[in-house]
Amino acid sequence: MLIVMKPDAQRSDIEKVLHVIETLGFRGHQLPGENRTAIGVTGNRGAIDPAHFENLPGVADAIRVTQPYKLISKDAKPEKSIVKVGNSTIGGPELAMIAGPCAIESREQLFTTAETVAKSGARFFRGGAYKPRTSPYAFQGMGEDGVKMLAEIREQFDLNIVTEAMDEHGVDAVEKYGDCIQIGARNMQNFSLLKYVGKTRKPVLLKRGLSATLDELLLAAEYIMAEGNYDVILCERGIRTFANHARNTIDLSIIPAVHRLTHLPVIVDPSHGTGHNYMVTPLARAGVAVGADGLIIEVHPCPEEALCDGAQALTPAQYLDLVNQVQAIHEVVSEPAPVFIEDQ
Ligand code: PEP
Ligand code: MN
Repeated sequence: MLIVMKPDAQRSDIEKVLHVIETLGFRGHQLPGENRTAIGVTGNRGAIDPAHFENLPGVADAIRVTQPYKLISKDAKPEKSIVKVGNSTIGGPELAMIAGPCAIESREQLFTTAETVAKSGARFFRGGAYKPRTSPYAFQGMGEDGVKMLAEIREQFDLNIVTEAMDEHGVDAVEKYGDCIQIGARNMQNFSLLKYVGKTRKPVLLKRGLSATLDELLLAAEYIMAEGNYDVILCERGIRTFANHARNTIDLSIIPAVHRLTHLPVIVDPSHGTGHNYMVTPLARAGVAVGADGLIIEVHPCPEEALCDGAQALTPAQYLDLVNQVQAIHEVVSEPAPVFIEDQ
């Protein structure tokens, strides 16, 4: 159920609705919008009688939700969400650039890469400390020492830190030292982890699972929001298909589909989406052209020496070139549509 408040509803009206929801044994989620506040109800198994709310002061409507998701939907919040990440935002008018190495390997590698990322004007830095590797014998990341190094990067370069957590211990570390908790593709349906990050107050970058449908991705976001954390950013990072010319098949049609259904921002990861250095820039351009709110890009000072994902890493020079290209495209696609006046 979604309770839509009147534009002039008072704070006390909203409190009253939340109280009734609680009395019924459910949870109310306030979703303030530009023109009105909506309150999503979760925790109910069957339909709730709208009569509980219809006559309360300040209530415009009590709507039954027929879709499987409630809080992510545009019915709950018609305006796009702008998610605050550290001292910047994702989902607003600026194209969000998140860049950095796949994995933190050393202080030198990290600081050299951060210099390039800061120089490019990006506001976000990535780098994995807890790495989900296919082989247990591959480099697993530097763990908490790595996350602490990322905190130093934030101080020195004024970049906001986005980094992956694979379990509750990782979430605690990222919550303490980082600005945004990344949930990787392999954990998109780790429901206990989703609930755990839902209880934190750090924004979450949720990557699409290796073979997840749009609905599955949206319901994973719903898991996080149902716990009270509404700061979720979605990420298309390619899915597994029969095509083997690229590491994954990047599914850019999901970007307009996401924008149609939800208010959440969505970004594109052309690094994991393609797996090949030469494909990253073209697919980054395409991602921005279809309306992504940002990009996440892997950069390494010396890709041939990378301990993880070297084949898809851009050199600093390639990355700076990519930024110039995608900013030019972003300016075009974010311009208001021209108004044509017909001749009489
Ligand atoms: C990553 O961003 O380093 C990563 C492991 O991504 P994904 O979860 O999309 O594979
Ligand atoms: Mn990687």
